[in-house]
Amino acid sequence: MYRTNTCGELRIENLNQEVILAGWVQKARKMGGMIFVDLRDRYGITQLVFNQEVNGELCERASKIGREWVIQVKGKVMERSNKNPNISTGDIEIIACELNILNVSETPPFTIEEDTDGGDDLRMKYRYLDLRRNNVRSNLELRHRMAFETRSYLNGQQFLEVETPVLIGSTPEGARDFVVPSRMNPGEFYALPQSPQTFKQLLMVSGIDRYFQIVKCFRDEDLRADRQPEFTQIDCEMSFVQQEDILNMFEGLTKHLFKTVKGIDLSDFPRMSYDDAMKLYGSDKPDTRFDMKFVEIQDLTKGKDFVVFDSAEYVAAIRAEGCASYTRKQLDELTDFVKRPQIGAKGLVYVRYETDGTFKSSVDKFYSQDDLKTWAQRCNAKPGDLLLILCGTTEKTQKQLCELRLEMGSRLGLRDKSQFNCLWVVDFPLLEFDEELGRYFAKHHPFTSPKPEDIPLLDSNPGAVRANAYDMVINGVEIGGGSIRIYNSELQKKMFGILGFTEEKAQTQFGFLMNAFKFGAPPHGGIAFGLDRFVSIFAGLDSIRDCIAFPKNNSGRDVMIDAPAVLEQEQLDELNLQVALKQK
Ligand code: ASP
Repeated sequence: MYRTNTCGELRIENLNQEVILAGWVQKARKMGGMIFVDLRDRYGITQLVFNQEVNGELCERASKIGREWVIQVKGKVMERSNKNPNISTGDIEIIACELNILNVSETPPFTIEEDTDGGDDLRMKYRYLDLRRNNVRSNLELRHRMAFETRSYLNGQQFLEVETPVLIGSTPEGARDFVVPSRMNPGEFYALPQSPQTFKQLLMVSGIDRYFQIVKCFRDEDLRADRQPEFTQIDCEMSFVQQEDILNMFEGLTKHLFKTVKGIDLSDFPRMSYDDAMKLYGSDKPDTRFDMKFVEIQDLTKGKDFVVFDSAEYVAAIRAEGCASYTRKQLDELTDFVKRPQIGAKGLVYVRYETDGTFKSSVDKFYSQDDLKTWAQRCNAKPGDLLLILCGTTEKTQKQLCELRLEMGSRLGLRDKSQFNCLWVVDFPLLEFDEELGRYFAKHHPFTSPKPEDIPLLDSNPGAVRANAYDMVINGVEIGGGSIRIYNSELQKKMFGILGFTEEKAQTQFGFLMNAFKFGAPPHGGIAFGLDRFVSIFAGLDSIRDCIAFPKNNSGRDVMIDAPAVLEQEQLDELNLQVALKQK
């Protein structure tokens, strides 16, 4: 037997037991005639004691062991005189009587402790060592529990987990595809799925009725903190459902996860229309942990010779409670913040509602105290509050004000990671017009159904058509999204037409789906959750990387295995790829 117990298991109740433990040496220190070793495994840390007086030879051998050596120790559980309340085994220690060195280790490139001295790059290169650290490993444990509870809930609701292929065909919509050359079909390529969308819809045609899959998806996009080239979805689809059925089922899943994994009881999720989300928060994924909604004040600002406001399409304010005391420096910081190229505002107007009831603003030249008072009233401001105002074209300004709102939320400590505000954003527009390309794109994807009552608008005013599409948002993060699908091949054909597909192109790309719809497709709809984001939210992480065992860096590289890499000419030839060998 390698071990009788784990390193996280023994307590005072186990006193005097003979045990065998195995694990990694986190630390070994000599004190007088004693050697103390912290032995670590996945479950915790247990202190081992080698005593010179009891066993000189054993102590001599123990004095040689170094950090991260793998050892097996037999000994007796004893009460510690110097207890450590910080660890679960802190009341006991093992007085060793046998030591077996299972493997030696080179000195690790960084300390394997909660506060490590290793930088990001180094830890990524030695990710397998990083994963020995508690904080990283606990994210994987959380991820496992969430995946497990997801399966348990969906299994209980009659969902079948069905695997769909990873080598599929490239589709032009959505993000860029990763492609794989086909050796057996020279000059032809597979693509890796951006999601199993079409397959899950085909499974509905097959009568599977309730499908799910915890599945890797691939998108060749520029990376950010919440994006990886390969990521995991909880992908789901149901037949004979309306939007309401899907929202209820997956609100149920989310509540189940919060309850079983975090012990949190959530109340019913509010619903917000896309239009309201944009109007009140300038975002289709509003962080509703704090209020600070947009207040439009353009009508109150007109006609006072302030050209900037007069010429703007949109003028809106947010109210920062109790911030009238902001200093010049703080206001300058906020102005610099909105003027950063990523945000791109031209400037920031502020109004301080002083505690004495007077107003002080950056536009005092144009507006009287009475004018400013009307703004303050509309914003429900009280003395002591600060109004921050942006103006310009509607959409752009809403986005800028959204960033400013989030920044203020952070500055004021209103984005508490232990608070979870979930909501559904519904009634998304079906289409989005791309000014540059002069054509419509599907806001969600081309299989999303328009709201039946809006179908007549498809011909007259496609931009106004609303979709039966929904997103689940938690704390300003889009955790999941989906839609009720088109299941009529004629309507699907029409949709491809609106999206600028020629009939031939639609047939080559999606003929299989439109044909399948001719054979009795049931009404269906679904949703996909981003598991990585879901886990990050549960763990309070800033980046999804920290809940992925082997993530890629911001240039899409795996620095541990050094991928991607150049291929040998032979392999390129075999794949019929005429690629110049990259000079290393
Ligand atoms: N396949 C969609 C996505 O990846 C989700 C869905 O519509 O179910 O966003």
